[in-house]
Amino acid sequence: MIQIKRYNKEFSATSQNPKLIAVSKTFSEDKIQLVIDQGQHIFGENKVQEATQKWIDLKKRNKKIELHLIGPLQSNKVKEALEVFDVIQTIDREKIVKKIKDNLNDKETNFFVQVNIGDEPQKNGLKVSEVDTFVKWCINDMDLRVTGLMCIPPIDGEPSYYFNLLSNLKEKLKLQHASMGMSNDFAKAIQFGATYLRVGSAIFGNRS
Ligand SMILES: *Cc1c(COP(=O)(O)O)cnc(C)c1O
Repeated sequence: MIQIKRYNKEFSATSQNPKLIAVSKTFSEDKIQLVIDQGQHIFGENKVQEATQKWIDLKKRNKKIELHLIGPLQSNKVKEALEVFDVIQTIDREKIVKKIKDNLNDKETNFFVQVNIGDEPQKNGLKVSEVDTFVKWCINDMDLRVTGLMCIPPIDGEPSYYFNLLSNLKEKLKLQHASMGMSNDFAKAIQFGATYLRVGSAIFGNRS
């Protein structure tokens, strides 16, 4: 289990200072509040509706929360997502970007582009070969604040290879953030240049 204070102590010393996203999907507001009380302020959810139900209230009670969407975004949920999330990590197609443009509010939402880093048919995200063109289109033509890339490596692969690939892509595109690494492999992700880690069960315990 990760203790928030201990994590912050160990990693705030490194120059890279990767930020910890506590992935709170399926956990109740009470459980989340306990983690906030330990000093954690960055959280991740994978469903828009669940996030709205829990976080509108939690955000009112706790200032300076930074909430990330790490699950797929459907067109009909865009408006709601822009209201509750501060960072949307799963931008992966033109249609969704256009929908976002039509619904942008005056909050300063940041966006990451999701990369299908292992080129797996069942996974969301852009192919590695498409990322460059898509990111440039989002930034230059659509004026979207794209500041990073995120990936979920293949479950049975060596994560280091994929972390390295995402990190290199991020450098090449001169983006600020690489969101990678989960409970089982976040130490490796740090080694390969993660700036955000998405850690759920190692903080909250197993999901039922
Ligand atoms: C659930 C989830 C995580 C966290 O997974 P753990 O193994 O519990 O740390 C990270 N990223 C995404 C996209 C998730 O859906």
